[in-house]
Amino acid sequence: MMIEYDVCVIGAGPAGLSAALQLKDCSVCMIEREEKPGGILKQCIHDGFGLIKFNAEMTGPEYSQRYIDELMTTDIKVYMKTFVSNINYICEKNIQIELINPEQGMFQIKVKSIIFATGCRERTAKQVFIHGERPAGILTAGSAQYFVNVSGYLPCRKCVILGSGDIGLIMARRLTLEGAEVLGVYEIKDSSSGLQRNIAQCLEDFNIPLHLSETVIKTHGDDRLTGVTVAKVDSEFNVIKGTEKYLECDGLILSVGLIPENELTKEMGIQIDSHTKGPIVDQNMMTSLKGVFACGNQVHVNDLVDYVSKSGEIAAKACMEYIKGNDYEKEDIRIKFDDSEFLYIVPQVINRQNENMNVTFFFRSSRKLRDAYVKIEINDKEIVNKSYIALNPPELQVIDIALGTLSQHDNIKFKINQR
Ligand SMILES: Cc1cc2nc3c(=O)[nH]c(=O)nc-3n(C[C@H](O)[C@H](O)[C@H](O)COP(=O)(O)OP(=O)(O)OC[C@H]3O[C@@H](n4cnc5c(N)ncnc54)[C@H](O)[C@@H]3O)c2cc1C
Repeated sequence: MMIEYDVCVIGAGPAGLSAALQLKDCSVCMIEREEKPGGILKQCIHDGFGLIKFNAEMTGPEYSQRYIDELMTTDIKVYMKTFVSNINYICEKNIQIELINPEQGMFQIKVKSIIFATGCRERTAKQVFIHGERPAGILTAGSAQYFVNVSGYLPCRKCVILGSGDIGLIMARRLTLEGAEVLGVYEIKDSSSGLQRNIAQCLEDFNIPLHLSETVIKTHGDDRLTGVTVAKVDSEFNVIKGTEKYLECDGLILSVGLIPENELTKEMGIQIDSHTKGPIVDQNMMTSLKGVFACGNQVHVNDLVDYVSKSGEIAAKACMEYIKGNDYEKEDIRIKFDDSEFLYIVPQVINRQNENMNVTFFFRSSRKLRDAYVKIEINDKEIVNKSYIALNPPELQVIDIALGTLSQHDNIKFKINQR
């Protein structure tokens, strides 16, 4: 017999945990493929989590433990070490999920709604076209972090970090503290993709050089990495001949971006945004499929976990209304913006049939700007004009606004101007 729940939350990271804990008066199950809940926070033992949500500076495990402790007091059914193999959306409020785990083998559950919270995965060397063999010693920053912080292994003695994303910056400091020599961080772009606070605290404080407009073009070594060749690039990322330099090292740590994990949503035919690589969601984090919600890094890569938790709460609140029968027809208005001004805006659509018009917008500018202001216009009429001392693509911005009633023909547009 198929077990039935009202809601299934897939992924027990901070997004899934905050969503599950908000779901009151309905039966809930959580599916997590790993052995323990907490998601990526389990390996983030540095501080800097929870500044907005709890007004406290916590480590990743401390932040997630607050949610896990609360989870233990609820009757939410948590399936650990459980993998989703297939989802069959039969019709509204009738979704069948096929699962597999070592204890129960293959089994099915039936739910009315799903909240996806599967996080994101790291880009690999293959995806950034580095030539050479595939010797041991080339690993993503998240894998290096897992080795050092969870397994207690030092994966290299002398390394180069490719890409200046936050995980790479954090690992530059972590590996230095553990006794490895970090030769430098090499970034192909002319500016870092990490937060300014991480450049100061993780590189400058440890005298680790940041090489902008430089990249790794070749790896050397058969069984184990013996070195890499780095070179300068021009504004179109073409290698500048004559600038090649060989660096002897036994580790190449990749911090070249994160991609929202969306195999399951894609298989279900849920619409994906080409800017975020995550599902298109409305103001309630509902995807293009009615009754299916998504939150956290699966929707777009957040830099602060506090916003991840917030998106889980928004999804859960709307999901409860959906379970109670307060459904709304899918009548979405697409947010318009210029690609040259914004990398992305979430939510991508506003459902005008829904009562909740208090919208939290998350956005990133597409380039560095000083003294800028962001305008939101409805039918060319300005409803928000917010000024910023600086806008920087690595820094996610948040605007809360009450949109009011919208008609089918309304046109919502985001703009950036500079003073
Ligand atoms: C290295 C690193 C450093 C960071 N530093 C900071 C910081 O200093 N301060 C800060 O505020 N934020 C930081 N962040 C950001 C923050 O940790 C993340 O934004 C947050 O963990 C994302 O939460 P999530 O729940 O969306 O995803 P995750 O934490 O990735 O959780 C997703 C969960 O879903 C599970 N899952 C995925 N697919 C399936 C499936 N098919 N079936 C079952 N389960 C599945 C995964 O196993 C995982 O447990 C950092 C992130 C990283 C990676």
